[in-house]
Amino acid sequence: MSGGDSEDPIREVRRRLGAEILARLRGVHRLNVEEFVSSYVSTTTGSPFRVLVATVLSQNSTDRAAMKAYVELDRRIGVVAEKLAEADVRRIARAIKVAGLSEQKARTIRRLATLSLKLRDPELRGLLAKGPEAVRETLLEVKGIGPKTVDVLLSSTGSLDTIPVDTHVRRVSERLGLVEEGSSYEEVRSRLEEVFPEGSRYEAHLLLIAHGRSVCRSRRPLCESCVLSDLCDFYRSSRRGM
Ligand code: SF4
Repeated sequence: MSGGDSEDPIREVRRRLGAEILARLRGVHRLNVEEFVSSYVSTTTGSPFRVLVATVLSQNSTDRAAMKAYVELDRRIGVVAEKLAEADVRRIARAIKVAGLSEQKARTIRRLATLSLKLRDPELRGLLAKGPEAVRETLLEVKGIGPKTVDVLLSSTGSLDTIPVDTHVRRVSERLGLVEEGSSYEEVRSRLEEVFPEGSRYEAHLLLIAHGRSVCRSRRPLCESCVLSDLCDFYRSSRRGM
């Protein structure tokens, strides 16, 4: 059986759990947009192209390093499609070195710049206006751009109410028991969309990251002082082993 009444009570439990998690995380984490490079660039520039560049810089990096790389790239070359499409990959790589994987990211940034010029849409505002499906279809063709990067663009610009799944979001969600370990990107995102209420999903994404950075750390999570411990599978099972 698929769909139907039998699934509704489960979904309702998930939704209530999501609302509770959200309320508790709001109580302990004050979100500062400057700690999230994509969010910061989206808020301060409103440029989809710039958000994409910032998000590429944050791949496998910290937001702090990505922010430094973004500022340096803007200072040395300019986060502008016309300039980046013309720039030598090594020059871009030198400017963004601090964020790591600089050659690879430089090539992705150049591909994005070339694409946006080809579309005659240097800021990619026109593409974003076409809607999430068109955005996904176009950007996922670009080597170096994956579903998380596209979801960050869509959610940070308010174009789609979704939850990009980064390493913190996945780890915290798995430990809480919201998603199964080893689930695909799409499975995690779609489950978290069921759990977290409409209109709060991007905030949930940021709060889960904040929680993953400061409390539910990869190594030695601070379970004893975590506001979610009574809701957490990982905590319950670790207590059973004591
Ligand atoms: S109780 Fe521990 S494992 Fe569970 S969410 Fe909190 S810090 Fe993470």
